Amino acid sequence: MIPIEEATKIVLGHSKSYGEEMAPLSEAIGRILRQDIHADRDFPPFTRVTMDGIAIRFNAYANGQRKFPIEGMQAAGSPQRKLHNLDGCLEVMTGAILPENTDTVIRYEDVKIENGVARLQANGIEKGQNAHLRAFDRKEGERIIKAGSIISPAEVGVAATVGLSALKVAKLPTVAIISTGDELVQVEETPEPHQIRSSNVHAIASTLYGWGIHPDKLHIADDMDATQAKLSACLEQYDVLILSGGVSKGKFDYIPAALSALGMKKLFHKVKQRPGKPFWFGESPNGKVIFALPGNPVSAFMCTMRYIRPWLRKSLELEPMDYAHAVLAEDFKFKPDLTYFLQVRTFFDPDTGRLMAKPVEGHGSGDLANLVDADGFLELPREKDKFKKGKVFPLIFYR
Ligand code: AMP
Ligand code: MG
Repeated sequence: MIPIEEATKIVLGHSKSYGEEMAPLSEAIGRILRQDIHADRDFPPFTRVTMDGIAIRFNAYANGQRKFPIEGMQAAGSPQRKLHNLDGCLEVMTGAILPENTDTVIRYEDVKIENGVARLQANGIEKGQNAHLRAFDRKEGERIIKAGSIISPAEVGVAATVGLSALKVAKLPTVAIISTGDELVQVEETPEPHQIRSSNVHAIASTLYGWGIHPDKLHIADDMDATQAKLSACLEQYDVLILSGGVSKGKFDYIPAALSALGMKKLFHKVKQRPGKPFWFGESPNGKVIFALPGNPVSAFMCTMRYIRPWLRKSLELEPMDYAHAVLAEDFKFKPDLTYFLQVRTFFDPDTGRLMAKPVEGHGSGDLANLVDADGFLELPREKDKFKKGKVFPLIFYR
């Protein structure tokens, strides 16, 4: 049995790289960019009108001009026009290129148009107002997005602007999430009195969807031969196996023995933590990674958030997870020599502006309904057994 610090180090030490691939913009969300993105043109590419109104030459206004004969119209999407009468104006629409010989836009609200003349109704016109200068934001060739960024809707918008319909992104591992246990039936089925529906695979899979990973969900019966056969097939097919159940001391907990019979290298089995003590982690000779989590829903859930999520971040070469911290809102006691992942509900204290964590303990690692009442785990260190209200601890937040 090893402490959580060591387990974390081992897990993160076995991060992998899965290469690169192209993803169309519609599938790029949440992926990790593997290319720099540069401006293919200036941002904006032409001096752009930002208000519907009239465009004038500021000098005319500065010289006292207040009535501007309208020469014509500059619409968005039309080639640039030219103002010929330097004391006149052109009507301009938002998104249009600013006409030649003009530099200032006055919005319709500030003029009155009669008989083809725009009469100024406002004071305080400033040179260059309502015109977004060419290259004001970014210059052609400038790097706008760095490789390694997580693609959010903002990155998608920029990529589209510079003409990229597909992006080079980090390739994701293929993952199988495998439940074990003869008491389990599928979500669609009606369980007998002695059965339950398998929930872990769905909860774990849901943490992966956000990264763009769509794992296969499989099941193994509590049978040594069947376990070995299925695991062996999965190890051929997938980069990562996430198992739930069958890693404790029960007579039908075949997973560790089956994995070792298949030649898998155990990197650790059992971590000084609650929940999640029986967690098994290992690797195949050809670098496939195996997370064998305890079956109890809260244990499997916590291990997914606390170990698999950071492993994935590291494998995708993202910055290490920056754990939030929160203030324990009530005194709490926990005796065993284990790191305790206390289920908490967080809230902001309006007086101090600090994030508070109120214990919502639940009834142990089988109480999955309690996960809905909580929104995170507060990581209480092993060395202590009394935790004072007001102390700050790392928070594993999952909402
Ligand atoms: P095990 O780790 O196999 O001893 O299972 C511990 C507990 O977790 C048992 O009560 C199982 O019924 C339950 N369990 C195991 N796998 C799942 C699953 N996929 N979904 C929900 N509960 C499970
Ligand atoms: Mg079991």
